[in-house]
Amino acid sequence: MPSFCSVAVARPVRGGPFTYLVPDGMGTALMPGIRVEVPFGSARALGFYLGPATAPISALGSARLKPLLRVLEAEPVLPADVLALLQFAAEHYRYPLGEVLRTALPPGLSRPTEQQVVTPEVQRFAVALPEAKPELLTRAPAQAATLSYLLAVGGRADWGELVAAIPGARESVKKLVQRGWVRLEQLPLEPGVREGLGQLRPERLTAEQTEVVGQVSQAITGGGFHPFLLQGVTGSGKTEVYLRAVELALSEGKGSLVLVPEIALTPQLVGRFRSRFGGQVAVLHSGLKNRERLLYWLALREGKLRIAVGVRSAIFAPVSRLGLVVVDEEHDPSFKQEEKLRYQARDLAVVRAKQAQATVILGSATPSLETLENAKRGRYRKLELASRVDNRPMPTVELIDLRDNRTRMPLLPGDEEPSVLSPALLTALGEVLERGQQTILFLNRRGHATYLLCTTCGQAVRCSQCDVSLTLHLRGNKVMCHYCGETRPVPQACPDCQGPLLNLGVGTERVEAEVAARFPLARVGRLDRDSATSAEKVTELLAAFARRELDVLVGTQMVAKGHDFPGVTLVCVVMADTSLRVPDFRAAERTFQLLTQVAGRAGRGSEEGRVLIQTYNPEAEAISRVVHHDFEGFLKRELLWRQALAYPPFTRLASIRVDGVDPELVRQGAVRIGQRLAQKMPPASSGVRLLGPAPANIVRVRGRTRWQLLLKGMTHGALSPLLAEVEAEALHMPPGVRVSLDVDPTAML
Ligand code: ADP
Ligand code: ZN
Repeated sequence: MPSFCSVAVARPVRGGPFTYLVPDGMGTALMPGIRVEVPFGSARALGFYLGPATAPISALGSARLKPLLRVLEAEPVLPADVLALLQFAAEHYRYPLGEVLRTALPPGLSRPTEQQVVTPEVQRFAVALPEAKPELLTRAPAQAATLSYLLAVGGRADWGELVAAIPGARESVKKLVQRGWVRLEQLPLEPGVREGLGQLRPERLTAEQTEVVGQVSQAITGGGFHPFLLQGVTGSGKTEVYLRAVELALSEGKGSLVLVPEIALTPQLVGRFRSRFGGQVAVLHSGLKNRERLLYWLALREGKLRIAVGVRSAIFAPVSRLGLVVVDEEHDPSFKQEEKLRYQARDLAVVRAKQAQATVILGSATPSLETLENAKRGRYRKLELASRVDNRPMPTVELIDLRDNRTRMPLLPGDEEPSVLSPALLTALGEVLERGQQTILFLNRRGHATYLLCTTCGQAVRCSQCDVSLTLHLRGNKVMCHYCGETRPVPQACPDCQGPLLNLGVGTERVEAEVAARFPLARVGRLDRDSATSAEKVTELLAAFARRELDVLVGTQMVAKGHDFPGVTLVCVVMADTSLRVPDFRAAERTFQLLTQVAGRAGRGSEEGRVLIQTYNPEAEAISRVVHHDFEGFLKRELLWRQALAYPPFTRLASIRVDGVDPELVRQGAVRIGQRLAQKMPPASSGVRLLGPAPANIVRVRGRTRWQLLLKGMTHGALSPLLAEVEAEALHMPPGVRVSLDVDPTAML
């Protein structure tokens, strides 16, 4: 009697899992998740054994089945809990399981070869010594960058991490060692032997922290699934709560997983984990070399490292005996992956904690409406930190109405455009500089100006491939498309009608130039994707600002993240409106979150903070409510609106994207999916709705046309059968037309 099995094949194809024949004698070696080699089409492929399968109904079908070729290992390389999470993700987000499993594997194990596990014996660290003087390194930028990185992460960094983060770090460290400023350490990879530096541990928790840590500790010690929302104003000491929770889990012999939005932007947070837990921390980010990734992966799986701190993909890290999952800044859009398996790591964090019967903390000053709704319904327990550490006051926030003529500056000498910085802002900046304190100038936008507008025909200069305006970059005298990267010299006249062009809007470069022109003695730095082209540069700039070698930091979202700069007493938002106008139902929520987060950078030290927000929409709720830190007030109105229009958190969405080079074929494909869905729609009383098909907000990107359909339902379960219909229809698209699903989408563009 032949036996059959179900295998997830590691190829991005729909229609799996596939059934294979189990050759005699191989059955005993099979267990769920184990890697196998299988014939697939005319080639061989990696596969994952899932379990026994029933025989195909027809004898003919059965005769066509191919046998497994070999089993590649004695034990499944993926631990059972990670396998379960990946299975959930593949099903929920509708991506082929085999491909999901393959991409979750560390390099070296994702090809159909036998498992070769080289367990490294030691972990190496570079440690900055007290003698180190980064300010003396002006003539050695590579060494300076390396040392800055080391200091920014708490004085001690994993060797592999350092080499990955800073090009040339190998050489620089050698020289720094010769100077006697850096020491190399080797530690055996065993739990418990390594001590953190421990200097940064505050002696006493605040009363609020004590209460919160108490609740979390009880949950961790007691075991079981305990989801928490930790809502704490900026500077309330959330990170310290995470650290204590991890500490406790560790003392109970349990592992912890900490997700952060972006490693390069949070060297301080990583540093606090490093300095508290030393070499027990695996820091997981996209800059890791293959070997390091494998090393960490194995050490975590074997329990030699107990703590993983990483970006969204770290949700799949094989932390053993998981007791705690933390998601810091849980509202941050970067937790959503926007390609292939389009997962939301924050949501998977809760799933994983549930599967592992662990505690999960979602932390933020401005939690997402989804998380708040879950707390309201009693699914998550809400913990609050209502005041800042040491009862430091929240910064005062003032709005500056840009429509008001009195705020328009006289022109700079020789400048034809009005200033972007109002007199009130300039006065405040001058005072802060006078006092020797620091300022952050935030602008949610790159480049010198958003776009060039023709004053005759009213058209913006647009990308030929993507249907969006091109951004002007003064440095390099060029215009650039921020979707596809197309770059052209600045046109002198409108490409359509030859009319004169007007430079609209404002960017970080422009602000930087203006501050420098008005305050020639101020030391000004700029942080955005154009200036900070590598993790090294980001870290170097943040470290210089932290050492107070810069007075003013101008930047995009990158300056808004969780930085803790005690010298910053003034935060200015140059234009609050930019994120308010994007065609996305979350635009107001994002704007409020962003403004609150950037405002929270002010007054974290002993001096009080002040925040100035320039805007054309001072009465918009997302802006006016920031003034009194009135998140609750903002929520009330926002939730009413969401409910009236049946948007999340009151409904679930799934978006279906259809794209291809030929606009007509794409349209046909989208229409066909729309027709099939219309036939299968449940009765209107179910609340399930179909929107579209319609051209996407941005119709063309990189020469491909995009159409979109949107499904809305009260629950995810109400949408799943319809998504299955879409997948079936996707197998019959016109040539060159691609269908992708985005379940629980966050970006509506
Ligand atoms: P959040 O993450 O809530 O914005 P942080 O965790 O960064 O706040 O804490 C703000 C500042 O307060 C940090 O500099 C931190 O080191 C400090 N801090 C946190 N808890 C305490 C405490 N119990 N005693 C003294 N300082 C603390
Ligand atoms: Zn383009």
